[in-house]
Amino acid sequence: IRALYIGRFQPYHNGHHYVINQIAKEADELIIGIGSAQMSHEPADPFTAGERVLMITGALQDLHKPLYVIPLEDINRNVLWVSHVRAMTPPFHRIYSGNPLVIRLFHEAGIEVLSPAMYERATLSGTKIRGRIVSNELWEDYVPPPVVRVIQEIDGISRIRALNQDDG
Ligand code: ATP
Ligand code: MG
Repeated sequence: IRALYIGRFQPYHNGHHYVINQIAKEADELIIGIGSAQMSHEPADPFTAGERVLMITGALQDLHKPLYVIPLEDINRNVLWVSHVRAMTPPFHRIYSGNPLVIRLFHEAGIEVLSPAMYERATLSGTKIRGRIVSNELWEDYVPPPVVRVIQEIDGISRIRALNQDDG
């Protein structure tokens, strides 16, 4: 089984990591799709697709299974989106998602969809982690250590703070 998991990963955090390690037990190969790949330098989408590739491959370097990390740009046409995803990814047999629109679109395309349960969602959410960075609270415990290193390497903390400042 080759399984697909899609997220924006702004940033990749321990909730994504937990779910992907669960999926890896049920799949032979993993495809991670990076959604809204064209976005970066926005408060809700601070990191580029390439930076997110680095976070994900770093965090999953010890997964002993083939891993494909594929950026997926938005096409803003939901009815064509599954075809777009299939054009960009290796062939897959199953998708894992908790997003109702993603579930609906893949279901209508006749593709098997499984929905992983949320894991510690009170703290493990991209929005909350970005908020902690902006307000100078501890955030490093909520992402895998390789993600902390990538964010440091690209000076991501100053970027997120700058993106959240207004121009006075
Ligand atoms: P944001 O707050 O920026 O939307 P997010 O934490 O929801 O970030 P996404 O990249 O939007 O992360 O989500 C990708 C996928 O990961 C979605 O299907 C989402 O339901 C799932 N996910 C997010 N957080 C968790 C979590 N704590 N446990 C399990 N799945 C999660
Ligand atoms: Mg989300």
